[in-house]
Amino acid sequence: MHDTFKFGPTIMTTIHTLGFPRIGKNRELKFALEKFWRGEIDADALEATGRELRARHWQLQAAAGLDFVAVGDFAYYDQVLNHIQMLGCEPARFDFTGQETELARYFTLARGVASEAKSCCGGHAETGDQGTWALEMTKWFDTNYHYLVPEFTADTAFRLASERLFNEVTEAQALGHQVKVTLVGPLTFLFLGKEKAGRLAAHASPLPSPLPEGEGEGVFDRLLLLDKLLPVYGEILARLKNLGVEWVQMDEPILCLDLPQAWKAAFEPAYHRLNAAGVKILLATYFGALDDNTVLACTLPVAGLHIDAVRAPHQLSTVLDRLPHYKVLSLGAIDGRNIWRADLDQTLALVAAAHAKLGDRLWIAPSCSLQHVPVDLRSEDKLGAELHAWLAFAVQKLNELGALKLALDQDIGAADLAYANAFGASRSAAAARRASPRVHNPALAARLAALPQDADRRATPFKARQAKQRARFKLPAFPTTTIGSFPQTKEIRAARAAFKRGELSAADYTEAMHNEIKLAVDKQVSLGLDVLVHGEAERNDMVEYFGEQLAGFAFTQNGWVQSYGSRCVKPPVIFGDVSRPTPMTVDWTTYAQSLTSLPMKGMLTGPVTILQWSFVRDDQPRSDTTLQIALAIRDEVVDLEAAGIGIIQIDEPAIREGLPLRRGDWQDYLAWAGRAFRISASGVRDETQVHTHMCYSEFNDILPAIAALDADVITIETSRSDMELLRGFGDFKYPNEIGPGVYDIHSPRVPSTEEMTRLLKKAAEVVPPENLWVNPDCGLKTRAWPETEAALANMVQAARQMRAAV
Ligand code: GLN
Ligand code: ZN
Repeated sequence: MHDTFKFGPTIMTTIHTLGFPRIGKNRELKFALEKFWRGEIDADALEATGRELRARHWQLQAAAGLDFVAVGDFAYYDQVLNHIQMLGCEPARFDFTGQETELARYFTLARGVASEAKSCCGGHAETGDQGTWALEMTKWFDTNYHYLVPEFTADTAFRLASERLFNEVTEAQALGHQVKVTLVGPLTFLFLGKEKAGRLAAHASPLPSPLPEGEGEGVFDRLLLLDKLLPVYGEILARLKNLGVEWVQMDEPILCLDLPQAWKAAFEPAYHRLNAAGVKILLATYFGALDDNTVLACTLPVAGLHIDAVRAPHQLSTVLDRLPHYKVLSLGAIDGRNIWRADLDQTLALVAAAHAKLGDRLWIAPSCSLQHVPVDLRSEDKLGAELHAWLAFAVQKLNELGALKLALDQDIGAADLAYANAFGASRSAAAARRASPRVHNPALAARLAALPQDADRRATPFKARQAKQRARFKLPAFPTTTIGSFPQTKEIRAARAAFKRGELSAADYTEAMHNEIKLAVDKQVSLGLDVLVHGEAERNDMVEYFGEQLAGFAFTQNGWVQSYGSRCVKPPVIFGDVSRPTPMTVDWTTYAQSLTSLPMKGMLTGPVTILQWSFVRDDQPRSDTTLQIALAIRDEVVDLEAAGIGIIQIDEPAIREGLPLRRGDWQDYLAWAGRAFRISASGVRDETQVHTHMCYSEFNDILPAIAALDADVITIETSRSDMELLRGFGDFKYPNEIGPGVYDIHSPRVPSTEEMTRLLKKAAEVVPPENLWVNPDCGLKTRAWPETEAALANMVQAARQMRAAV
């Protein structure tokens, strides 16, 4: 490992990473994949890109002085899918003939057959209407990365079915690297899967908990498959040992969740069996604290343990007490979930305590795989020197590990300059962030301090507001509306891009957008919709549009992070106090309102969703940042009201995905998230109607919190689960008005009027009919106009039939 002979200290700290982003600093993997799918390049060319990226990423790890390169973190689509294939448990429903190549099967599992690839809302499952459904997709713990969900039946069998991992090990070794292999551990693999019998539910139930446990079809318990699965893991470990691999990292992040007792009990015997392979296992946990699993994790029969000391630094001292003397402790000390340059003095203080106790049994790493951060800050040249100096992407984080190692080992020699530079840069970044007027806005602090306790409450309870709103808007029963966006045509995108590049003047751009708004309004009027929207033509993305206009936000040029498959997102960076210099939507909305006497809905993104889909500053609690965003949105709401807009929608599709991984932390989150939403919504008069919109989650377990948002109307996705979701709203007696989506916008299929009336009748059984709205289940931006108009015409017809029936 250490090829230069040294006098002096013999204690050597090992540094490594749990994984590295695979997309490439210029999203090379994305572009190669999409070319391959379009038939423009062949499999060899795709594999060549993969090889090149792996070699590049290993080289970066070696150059930063890491003691191992990580092998096994590469995937053409998803690392869990790699395991599904390697472990030989491709679901039988795909009916492979045996003639397909491994790669062809791989992409069929990921993307389905003859199914349309679709997505919205920051990356949701691709689903198909005919053909074979792709594997379901759901969020990897509380990240914005989506993995493919393994499907298990009672007779699922396992066998070692792919050579890919071993080939990659050989590939890295041939390049002269010391290899540490990373695998998803057997219990996490099973846990993240779903029990299946027959037909698939339309979309996955996302983590965080309620975890997949018990939510399958109740036919069997997938934990029973462990006995069949372990021999294959054993075989993999034996093969790796034969290849000369010393360490294998087994990711078992489920140890940071509230685990059912049976799953806890399964760890000890499982790892006892795996240990027999004779490879050193590093058990990797991350995204939280081990808490009640601390003793279990510390005492498992493996050679090392990795813990997340960024999210859960408090667990370090217990783990140090509990860890047996022969074990390595890998300390996740560099934030793998965020983009800030580490405060190395602080990090060093944390690791030094462990170093004193463990000596060379201490390893240092990022808290989790670096796949959740962008690749290389050196690609950014438009951030400005100050902000640039505050950030660290994956490559920079590797170098932070190198600096920590030098500091710990006091290996001051040729490298001391690098060491001094890294610490110097870290100190000045930390100091600048503490002092910068771009970060700290005293006026905002004063405003927050003066915020009345009841700023998060409407002046009057819902029932009284409802009466006033009914008198004001005089809407028919079963009022019809849409969720906000209309088809984003080529022309719209071209106009936005030309304006951004400076090729279209502001006046011409405004005119182009006005034409789009007019088109959308005309179509809605002739369709007979009751509450209109302006169509969101000016928005590229529901968070970016607001972030670009708010103080405290910055945008990278190339800060891409994989969301799923070839899809990447470029989250905004919230670096400072958030405020709203000028109104953000008032001009577009009032223009739209000027075209019609029907009510025009103002359309905003809520504070929790803006927070959730951004990189958030780490120098104050997330709740404080959310509150600042909430104030900015509140100002916008108040300005819309003053401009005569009577109905305002505040979208919060991400509110559920912000739930902490441990149930014990839910209440606290829901309290501050709810308060933030209400602060954004409560600055208006009783007659002003506030809507919110949510999609793609199971909401039933947080219904009281949703009701506590006290939006006058909620529109919500339900159509794909055939109104099942609504049962919860009925049982709970959801107090306010509600628009359960009556058709699925993810498909170009035009649902019939009968289908929609059937759903509405079902809804009317559980929700008082006078509280029901009629709308699609999400925005229409991914659709084309012909199917949109046809579907909305049928939808309006369905509402009319409902009115006639009462
Ligand atoms: N108003 C947004 C739209 O219609 C809502 C999108 C979403 O729910 N993700 O597109
Ligand atoms: Zn939606």
